[in-house]
Amino acid sequence: MENLDKIVSLCKRRGFVFPSSEIYGGLGGFWDFGPLGVELKNNIKSWWWQTMVQAREEIVGLDSTIIHNPKVWQASGHTLSFTDPLRECKECHKRFRADQLKGEKCPECQGKLTNVKQFNLMFETYIGSAKETANKAYLRPETCQGIFINFANVVDTVQPKLPFGIAQIGKGFRNEITLGNFIFRDREFEMMELEYFVRPEEDEKWFDYWLKERLKWYLDLGISKKNLRFFEHPKKSLAHYSKRTVDIEYHFPFGWAELEGVANRTDFDLKNQSRFSNKDLRFQDEKGEKLYPYVIEPSVGVERIALALLVEAYREEKDKKEIRVLLSLHPQIAPIKAAVFPLLANKANLVKKAKEIYDDLKICFNVAWDDIGNIGKRYRRQDEIGTPWCVTVDFETLKDKKVTVRDRETMKQQRVAIDKLKEFFQTKLV
Ligand code: ATP
Repeated sequence: MENLDKIVSLCKRRGFVFPSSEIYGGLGGFWDFGPLGVELKNNIKSWWWQTMVQAREEIVGLDSTIIHNPKVWQASGHTLSFTDPLRECKECHKRFRADQLKGEKCPECQGKLTNVKQFNLMFETYIGSAKETANKAYLRPETCQGIFINFANVVDTVQPKLPFGIAQIGKGFRNEITLGNFIFRDREFEMMELEYFVRPEEDEKWFDYWLKERLKWYLDLGISKKNLRFFEHPKKSLAHYSKRTVDIEYHFPFGWAELEGVANRTDFDLKNQSRFSNKDLRFQDEKGEKLYPYVIEPSVGVERIALALLVEAYREEKDKKEIRVLLSLHPQIAPIKAAVFPLLANKANLVKKAKEIYDDLKICFNVAWDDIGNIGKRYRRQDEIGTPWCVTVDFETLKDKKVTVRDRETMKQQRVAIDKLKEFFQTKLV
C-alpha cells in the first residue's frame, strides 16, 4: 500500500488525477483528470479502439447516449434488480437481498455487512421541468445496452455476418456504496465494452478466444504476467444475464481485484429488448434463418486500466546518492512522448534551435518544453511522469545538427540527426 500512497501523491502533484470538486471538500467516488491524466486516458482509449475496432474487419464502433428511454433498463433487468432492499459486504462488495440473508455476516466471505438500504445502483434524473415519476430517467450503469438497442440499426447499415462485434467507449455511472482505493471504484467512470455476437452453438469457443485475446492485450501493454490472473465466477454468483463470467484480475497493492470482466451474456439482452420494445431484434443469417445471437462481452473501465498501469510502471531506483522515481510506461501510453530542452536556458542561440525542434515535433507528437533548472533535474521531472525520451540541444548541435536523445529506461544517451528525429520516434511508437 506504500506504493499506492506514493502514486496517489504523484498523481496529484504532477497533474494526473485530482479529487473532483476539491475546493468544496471533494465528492466521494468522483475524480478529475489533469493535463497528464487526460493524455493517459486518451492513450488507453485509442489503444483499445485501434486494436479492438479499427484493426478488426468484423468489429464496428458506436457512440450512443448516456440517457436512454427508461424502458431499456426495465428490459435489461436493472430497474428491478437494483431496487431491492440490499446489504453490501464491506469486504467483497457483493450485495445481498436483505430478506434472503441469514445472520449478520456475508455468506460468501464472512465480511461485515452494511445496513439495509433501499438501493438502486443507477443515478436517477428527470427529463423536462416536472420532477414526476413519468419523467424519471437514469444515467447508464453500463454502455452495452446502447449497443443492444441499436442492434438492428447497425446490422441494417453494415450487413455483417456472424460473428461480428459492436464496440463502444463512454461514461458509465454507478452509485456505489463502497468506495476507496483511489480511482479503482468510482461513481462516474469510462467503460470500454465490446459486444461480440456469435452463433449460439459457438459461444464457448468465442468466449475462450476473447479471454486469451484480452489477456494478451494487457501483456502487450506492458503488464507483467505475474500480476494477471483469471477468476472464474462460480455458477451460483453469476449475474442474472450470464452463463459464464471470468474476470481478468490484476495484483493491485490492495490485493487481487477485477480489472476486466469477460461475460457470456447469452441472448438475454437482445431477447429482452425485443420483448419490451415489440421489435424483432433477431439476426437473419445467409440462409435466411432468424436467430438471436449469443453475446460475448469483454468489459473494462479506463480508470482501472490507468491505475493498473501506474502501479505496474512505478519504480524507485537508486541512482548515485539519490532515488530516481520513474514511470516505466509503454511509450504509446506515456502522456508525453519527448521533452525538448536547450542545455542552457540563458543562451539565446540554443533556445532558438531547441524551440525550432520543439515546434516541428509538436505537430506529430505530444512533446513538452522544459528549460527550468539543470539538465539532471529536468530528466528527473520527465522520468517521474513516464516521458520515454528527452532531447537536448547543446553547443555541438549548432555545429553538427545533431541532438542528444536520452532514454528513460536505460538513461543512455545517443546523438541523433535533427532531420531524422521524427523518424526516430515514429519507429519506436508503433
Ligand atoms: P466490481 O465488482 O469491481 O464492482 P462489477 O463486477 O460490478 O465490478 P462489471 O459490471 O463487470 O463490474 O463492469 C465491467 C468493468 O467495468 C469492470 O471490470 C471494471 O473495469 C469497470 N467498472 C465497473 N464498476 C466500476 C466502478 N465503480 N469504477 C470503475 N470501474 C468500474
